[in-house]
Amino acid sequence: MADCECINGCPFFNDRMDKMPAMASVYKKNYCQSDFNSCARYSIFKALGKEFVPVDLFPNEKEMAEMIIKKAKS
Ligand code: SF4
Repeated sequence: MADCECINGCPFFNDRMDKMPAMASVYKKNYCQSDFNSCARYSIFKALGKEFVPVDLFPNEKEMAEMIIKKAKS
């Protein structure tokens, strides 16, 4: 799979988050450079726009992303 379209400006991929998870390099490989459709940040970006993505959200926090999307659309 191709790289995520957000890869150049993404704070997670570019290590610009306050706290990076210990698994960051694995997440980058599994999400950013592979299955980006499963990324929590990417799903909010697609559904609502960049400005809705919380700064501290990690790619694996899909449940949180779904809650944010649901709330914004209700
Ligand atoms: S997959 Fe998620 S974390 Fe990775 S670059 Fe795309 S939006 Fe950022």
